[in-house]
Amino acid sequence: MGDPGNRPAGAAVHISSPIQCLPGIGPIMASRLREMGIARVEDLLFHLPARYQDRRKLWKVRDLRPGVEAAVLGEIVQIHRQSGRREQWLAILREDSATFQVRLFHPAPGMRQKWMPGRRVWCFGEIRAFRGGLEMVHPEWQSPEDGGFQVPEHLTPFYPSRDGIHQNQWRRWIARALQLLPELEDPLQAFLPPGWPPLGRAVLSLHQRDHDLADGRDPFRERLALEELLTHHLALRRERARMRRVRVLPLLADGHLWRALQEQLPFRVTAAQQRVIDEIVQDFSRPYPMRRLVQGDVGSGKTLVALAVLLHVLESGAQVAVMAPTEILASQLARRLQEWLDPLGISAAVLSGNLGRQERQAILGGLREGTVTAVCGTQALFQEGVEFANLALVIIDEQHRFGVEQRRRLLVKARVPHLLVMTATPIPRTLAMTLHADLDVSVIDELPPGRQPVETVVLPDSRREALLERLHRRLASGHQVYWVCPLIEEQELLQLRAAEASFAELQEAFPEYRVGLVHGRQPAALKAAVMEEFRAGSLHLLVATTVIEVGVDVPNASLMVIEHSERLGLAQLHQLRGRVGRGAVRSTCVLLYRPPLSSRARERLQVMRESTDGFVIARKDLEMRGPGEFLGIRQSGERQMRVADSLGDENLLELLPGLADCMESEGEGAGSVLLRRWLGDSAEYAEIG
Ligand code: ADP
Ligand code: MG
Repeated sequence: MGDPGNRPAGAAVHISSPIQCLPGIGPIMASRLREMGIARVEDLLFHLPARYQDRRKLWKVRDLRPGVEAAVLGEIVQIHRQSGRREQWLAILREDSATFQVRLFHPAPGMRQKWMPGRRVWCFGEIRAFRGGLEMVHPEWQSPEDGGFQVPEHLTPFYPSRDGIHQNQWRRWIARALQLLPELEDPLQAFLPPGWPPLGRAVLSLHQRDHDLADGRDPFRERLALEELLTHHLALRRERARMRRVRVLPLLADGHLWRALQEQLPFRVTAAQQRVIDEIVQDFSRPYPMRRLVQGDVGSGKTLVALAVLLHVLESGAQVAVMAPTEILASQLARRLQEWLDPLGISAAVLSGNLGRQERQAILGGLREGTVTAVCGTQALFQEGVEFANLALVIIDEQHRFGVEQRRRLLVKARVPHLLVMTATPIPRTLAMTLHADLDVSVIDELPPGRQPVETVVLPDSRREALLERLHRRLASGHQVYWVCPLIEEQELLQLRAAEASFAELQEAFPEYRVGLVHGRQPAALKAAVMEEFRAGSLHLLVATTVIEVGVDVPNASLMVIEHSERLGLAQLHQLRGRVGRGAVRSTCVLLYRPPLSSRARERLQVMRESTDGFVIARKDLEMRGPGEFLGIRQSGERQMRVADSLGDENLLELLPGLADCMESEGEGAGSVLLRRWLGDSAEYAEIG
């Protein structure tokens, strides 16, 4: 490998060359591009335009309207130069006896002879109304008399960019990369059904496009998206295959702890829970590590499944770590587990941010020496280099909050033997196969008996008075109430104030009851204390932001009010609503909204009113949003996909498993080309041993 700085002048550039081999890209620009994921010339080909402009057509001045972006070739009939601190020129251009005005700011001195009455100029820009006439402000322009003048042949692409990189640079570099297109490897094409364009053609027509397909389906973009999705799928499959080659000792236990626990349960384990527990215990007897996802709708009893599995591992003499997405959930979970563990004389530690130094050191020491066998915490468990004597299992609760990418990083770092992830976001089968191809999936497809579906009422905010009446009755009969004020990230402070206002309003409305407030900005210890009071029943009404979205379990709460429910997505609404309906009484969820409702919001609330089934709701959600958005790739801080993110077609996903089978059956070469192309440096997660 030579140092690119020492390469002989005129060395040939290849599609696999580092980008600084292109003329005009020095070390600084190269590092900027690398930050955008562009390291090699080939990567430029997959940097796709965000939009296109049509500069090919020359407009007639009489057809111009405010708002259009137009190219006009006209003759300057008059020019007025205003000098001063803010120098600008106003030129009147004529074309076919109609005129419009062009306004230029800070013109360069060299422009003077080109902008003279009698000369012709080609301008491109947006048309605005101006004093009864039309004006184009600060257009791009060329002089037709100049040698280099060209009316573009194709639509003009606009590339996603960042400070310090101009559109013209992108266009130049990408044009150069397109000359190397014949070198582009396309191992996928041979496996595709007829009708799909080859990769090179798809790439070319995305950069050099003759029709704007913005509104319709774009087969070229789909070709790239398919390849990208397939690559992610392949990476996960290889990860799974790699795990199968890792050797672990079986975890031997006879199940006496779990049997002892079941004897004290006030209810019976459902058949679905038992089946899933059996599947997991089976995994422990295999010679390779478990990677399993447990899907179960909100309230299906995932915690008990986790507990059964935890006991099995403890019995075998190894350690277990349980991870939740937030501190509040980690301590809730720990407390619930502890209630069940107490009679067995087992204790689970909680590693949270608000521990004293000594307590913390004691837990860390215990984990290192193996005297602490079960621990709950957030991701910090793995970020802070906690050492374990004999960690055999990590359980991740509410995995949808973590995201695939985080899961992967965690596993690579923590070298976890067995992994169990639990989620309440039921994703349709095709999606599960793509997104979780590295995992085995178990489904808890049954709710504990006696659950009554939550009655859901949709109310405009103007009916608040009547609602408070209803609250009164519910509180008087000894039930607890959640009042949720959703937080929208960008407006956190504003929303916090809204939550505080509702808190004050409810305190005033119910002086005889105790009202609590919990939100994300409180210190963890305070949050945990408020939640604990609510759980213990000493708070009657809890005003909360969406911090209570997942995992919180207070069976005596039988009414939930969600303010501004029109702002929330279906998945979130379903999660929130799942906090009620956990006991034997009939629960109600009131979705308050502020009119006017968008048609999307109306549809969402309608779905919520009609169904309490997580699978039905997820299906609907997927239909309404498309897979990219549905999977929440952006939201959970995942690495963004380059092309497939914005894709609206689930049918592509259905092709993946079959394609991956064909491709991998002919050796690793083809797949490796795709992995290198789409995952680049991060492809190592698929290769590391
Ligand atoms: P999830 O995490 O799946 O949303 P939880 O584990 O929080 O659900 O369980 C919800 C509630 O159901 C808890 O109060 C739990 O004690 C109770 N529960 C769990 N399993 C059963 C069962 N087999 N029968 C009755 N209640 C159960
Ligand atoms: Mg749970």
